[in-house]
Amino acid sequence: MALTSLPELPAPVDAEHLAALVADLLASGQEAPPLALIREPAELVRLSRDCHDYSPLLTPLLANCRAQLAVRATSLEQVRCVAGACARRGVPLTLRGAGTGNYGQCVPLQGGVVLDLSGLQQLRAIDPDSGVITAEAGCQLAALDRQLAPHGRSLRLAPSTYRTATLGGFIAGGAGGIGSLRWGFLRDTGNLLGLEVVTVEPEPRVLQLDVAASAPLNHAYGTNGIITALRLPTCERVAWQELVVGFDHWPDAMTALQDLPATALLLDALALLEAPVAQRMPWSGGCPAPAASEHRLLLLAAPDSLEVLPTWLAARGGSVRWQQSQGQGQSQGQRPSRGLPLRELCWNHTTLHWRSHHPDWTYLQLQLPDPATPLIDALRRRWGDGLLWHLEAVRQGGAVRLAGLPLLRFQGPEALRELIQHCRDLGALVFDPHEISVEDGGLGGIDPAQVAAKQRHDPGGLLNPGKLRGWLER
Ligand SMILES: Cc1cc2nc3c(=O)[nH]c(=O)nc-3n(C[C@H](O)[C@H](O)[C@H](O)COP(=O)(O)OP(=O)(O)OC[C@H]3O[C@@H](n4cnc5c(N)ncnc54)[C@H](O)[C@@H]3O)c2cc1C
Repeated sequence: MALTSLPELPAPVDAEHLAALVADLLASGQEAPPLALIREPAELVRLSRDCHDYSPLLTPLLANCRAQLAVRATSLEQVRCVAGACARRGVPLTLRGAGTGNYGQCVPLQGGVVLDLSGLQQLRAIDPDSGVITAEAGCQLAALDRQLAPHGRSLRLAPSTYRTATLGGFIAGGAGGIGSLRWGFLRDTGNLLGLEVVTVEPEPRVLQLDVAASAPLNHAYGTNGIITALRLPTCERVAWQELVVGFDHWPDAMTALQDLPATALLLDALALLEAPVAQRMPWSGGCPAPAASEHRLLLLAAPDSLEVLPTWLAARGGSVRWQQSQGQGQSQGQRPSRGLPLRELCWNHTTLHWRSHHPDWTYLQLQLPDPATPLIDALRRRWGDGLLWHLEAVRQGGAVRLAGLPLLRFQGPEALRELIQHCRDLGALVFDPHEISVEDGGLGGIDPAQVAAKQRHDPGGLLNPGKLRGWLER
């Protein structure tokens, strides 16, 4: 289904309701440190947006969606105050981390309050034996990772927006990214161990959810509970090496992409950019610009793999153009990278860089069938140079698969719809970034457990209205 209009929702609350809510929030300053209330129109516009502008369908649709008030919380007690006041006054409440989502996830469709949770920044605990952490939802991912470094631990998974995104926003709105080659996706069993959640009720409860009870909040766009802290596994820290490899022939590059994960080399990320895409990337200082016909493979590889990779790649038609430490190995005397880290050339950063040159292009997110080549070839034949390939190797259900984030010249909604159907007909799973609901953008269908969690934690249906189709259709 392709989106043409927003779901029907009640009108935003009137000025009287809003004034009563503000009075409640100001009064709450007697119980908790005063809340930062934001009412300046420009700030409300900024806090009502995310990175959905990659979609030429979502951009006009969400253009007029605005919060009526924004609130910045820095403590659990403040979150409870906001949740209670919104529940008592019947005001919609949309949660926000860093606002880097691509699906309009934190754009308020029905006005109301936007609650910025990026001020909840404590790493509360790290278990020295298991490495399991409990961290607050507003922790910025790179800062959190730096705190884990002295313990020899790292986050398992990170979006390419690792330097800006929050932990709560990643779990509620993200899917995977760097690390998905080893650890799969966020919703895979074992990647989330527990959540602390505040309910949206007149007297909000603070719940500690176990693994099973946390699962329905994972990738629910903040529609079914306010996450204030998360329990996550971590992994052993590795001084990842960034490698850029050039290939003259696409089939050779595809073979390397598909065969590398079957070796015993430790890799954290593996992406392939078709030559025209590689041409447009802002390569790091010291990395030569690619030749016009050069496809590029990007790798994050463990240091010990460097003894093997150059020869292995050369035997398959690849040549290492550039290599540098990601920066984590500085204490071992390795040079930190200059310029953009390699992680910011892959996943949706590739789309970002391409669109900075070609704003009339958009993209798709696909999981490709195995084997992937027939689909890639068929789409090339049908869509010509209006579709360019960016592939990421990932682990899906225990097997290595390819995720595709192809770049598309936008030729109107009908052509986009036709292309999406073509991808599905060829066996791809489409995580449609031109849709706003949890179900249509990623999960594929209604998950009754997500709807039941909303009933338990947000019985008035105030959290991020319009984004959980299962709630609207119940
Ligand atoms: C250039 C670029 C590259 C990207 N690369 C990746 C990638 O590699 N992998 C990936 O998965 N995504 C990627 N994304 C999407 C996005 O950056 C990530 O999903 C990111 O983790 C979102 O974090 P955030 O703090 O910005 O969340 P936000 O955008 O602020 O929020 C995302 C969703 O979570 C909800 N939410 C936020 N905080 C909470 C909370 N505490 N409790 C409950 N709900 C909450 C919001 O309501 C919203 O629905 C990319 C985006 C861009 C622009």
